Amino acid sequence: MTYVVTENCIKCKFMDCVEVCPVDCFYEGENMLVIHPDECIDCGVCEPECPAEAILPDTEEVAEKFLEVNREYSEKWPNITQKGDAPADADDWNGKEGKFEAHFSPNPGDS
Ligand code: SF4
Ligand code: SF4
Repeated sequence: MTYVVTENCIKCKFMDCVEVCPVDCFYEGENMLVIHPDECIDCGVCEPECPAEAILPDTEEVAEKFLEVNREYSEKWPNITQKGDAPADADDWNGKEGKFEAHFSPNPGDS
């Protein structure tokens, strides 16, 4: 089992999650973060920290879809351990539907 970052992180990217992870297994894309499934120790500490409620255990159906996204991009994006600035319009995107199809960016983050 692992925890997974799901769609609602896209364009929210509040990053409260990265500071609490004891094994630093978050990786940063241009507009979302992912968790490396093999590094996550399933502690669950990050889940309640996410204001977007985007972090879920992979036992949830919606998280299953994102498991491969987390796996693929945690190999490609840089590790992130410190919270950066959330996008100015992050709150406007919180809860919007269809963000993966319309807005997912495969580019790495740079904070
Ligand atoms: S706290 Fe939630 S929305 Fe923010 S970066 Fe982490 S997973 Fe994404
Ligand atoms: S569940 Fe624990 S180990 Fe896994 S990403 Fe969250 S804080 Fe890190």
